Amino acid sequence: MHRYDLISCHDCGVLHSRRPVRPREKARCVRCRSVMYRGIHSDASRMAAITLAALIVFVIAQCFPIVELDVNGNASRATLLGSIIVLWQGHMPLVAAAVFMFTVLLPAVELLSLLHVTLALAGGHKPKSFNLLLYAIHLARRWGMTEVLMIGILITIVKMTSLATVVLEPGLFAFAALTLMLAIVVSFDPKMLWNLGDALTPQPDVPPPVPQAALSCHVCGLVSADNGARRQDCPRCHARLHHRHPDSLGRTWALLVAAAILYIPANLLPVMYTHSLFGLEDDTIISGVLYFWDSGSPALAAIIFIASIVVPLLKLAALSLLAWTAQRRSRWRPLQRTVLYRMVEFVGRWSMLDIFVITLTVALVRFQTLATITAGPGALAFCAVVVLTMLASMQFDPRLIWDPVPPNGEKHA
Ligand SMILES: [Zn+2]
Ligand SMILES: [Zn+2]
Repeated sequence: MHRYDLISCHDCGVLHSRRPVRPREKARCVRCRSVMYRGIHSDASRMAAITLAALIVFVIAQCFPIVELDVNGNASRATLLGSIIVLWQGHMPLVAAAVFMFTVLLPAVELLSLLHVTLALAGGHKPKSFNLLLYAIHLARRWGMTEVLMIGILITIVKMTSLATVVLEPGLFAFAALTLMLAIVVSFDPKMLWNLGDALTPQPDVPPPVPQAALSCHVCGLVSADNGARRQDCPRCHARLHHRHPDSLGRTWALLVAAAILYIPANLLPVMYTHSLFGLEDDTIISGVLYFWDSGSPALAAIIFIASIVVPLLKLAALSLLAWTAQRRSRWRPLQRTVLYRMVEFVGRWSMLDIFVITLTVALVRFQTLATITAGPGALAFCAVVVLTMLASMQFDPRLIWDPVPPNGEKHA
């Protein structure tokens, strides 16, 4: 048995032996039903070609303006980077840095690392710093938010059409194409690339780990035998191995409390100020929702209400429930709690939607004589809530849900 033939379920820790699946097929865990891996064409040169195409579209999307706004002959255009700079200069450096990370830096890191790795694998060799590159892909993918930005751009456009003439620019179409291409790129799982790399360098056949004492690497997915030492590193990627995320519940609680406290100013403080001939107006998140509702766009009002108000609140409630039941070692509905955890993981990034709308709005509405919009302190608090709840869900170890549940004959890591 090859050492990468074993796979441990991310959500409940059950060990499975890996079996090949056809493209578009999914391998599900026998106990918690979560998808462990998908069948894709694991052809490195094909992956390299798609990644290169996505990278070119990414550069076009970043360089060209996304939309242009015309008011009585005054025009203003916004590129993504230009909008981030406007936000930075408007005394919101932290929010600007977060938007830059999630929409420019991390997608670029992901695409460049993936291109480098797949080109090397296609050429039949393992690149230098293979581990570091795959770790970068793993990390960048968790925090990259191109698809959320795309919806944010669409909402901004609809919002602006009621104020001024909106001209669609090439950057918009490039972002739309990039969103579609990234949906394919995301299927190139770093864990599978790790196996492709292993297949190139001959690995010694090692005996499969004794099931009662197996440790699963949270970075590369390799299952190793627990040698009983206090500190043990993954033999493949050298990450520190843990039976469970260290201090998972303590850290989850700390981040949840911080997020819950900041949720209050995020909703009460203004997220935007409008300076116009009629004076100064401020907007909170809820007044933005009401604006869309009153101006005849109930669908948009609903999207922003759900993404900005309901989702963060549900995330806080769901994570508190998961942490509390795990702490009590509850055996109550483990399957449903795992599904809840997966939903929290999935929706986490979508709460950034309103921050992206604010970023673009601030950059577009800059007509000195008519109106100027700047970001308010609520935006900073809101951004912090989103980042803290995402960190909280990453700290929570879903295997804690299953630890008190008696196994049904399966072997665990
Ligand atoms: Zn499972
Ligand atoms: Zn590893």
